[in-house]
Amino acid sequence: MMATPHILTGAVAGKALASRPWLALPAAFAGHFVLDVVPHVDSHTFFGVAQGGPTVPEAGIAVADSILGCVIVALLTRSRPWRAMALWGAFCGTVIDLADNLPPWGDWFSTWPGTAWLSDFHHGIQPHLTPHQWLLGFGTQLVTIATMVWLLRRRAGGSDV
Ligand SMILES: [Zn+2]
Repeated sequence: MMATPHILTGAVAGKALASRPWLALPAAFAGHFVLDVVPHVDSHTFFGVAQGGPTVPEAGIAVADSILGCVIVALLTRSRPWRAMALWGAFCGTVIDLADNLPPWGDWFSTWPGTAWLSDFHHGIQPHLTPHQWLLGFGTQLVTIATMVWLLRRRAGGSDV
């Protein structure tokens, strides 16, 4: 899945479990894998190659996507008491993609026996939609983003903002 839904979902885990960091951060980490099972497309679907590292458009979109996710979380958590946990949650929600997909350490992460199993699992659960399935692939992510934005904006009493 793209970076923005991962970042937002991790932030929601951090917010929801802010008083229990020992639970919030593993939940944010585990949530990444739940999202990756959901049908989705990303820049790799359209611009990736089967072998080798990310292509230039793939990397460019991933960077822009990551910045977008960070900006949304930064804005929605501004001056909230649970902000630090939301930011840590956002990081834990996306760290596996940073470790597994970014050169140069991504190659090491996917081949070193201590982490190769996790990389295999991470890549193995991806549904691999085709570019023709973009409506489904983007739709699931838009729903995820909208839900997570709503949860981040929601106050404890249930009212928005
Ligand atoms: Zn992933």
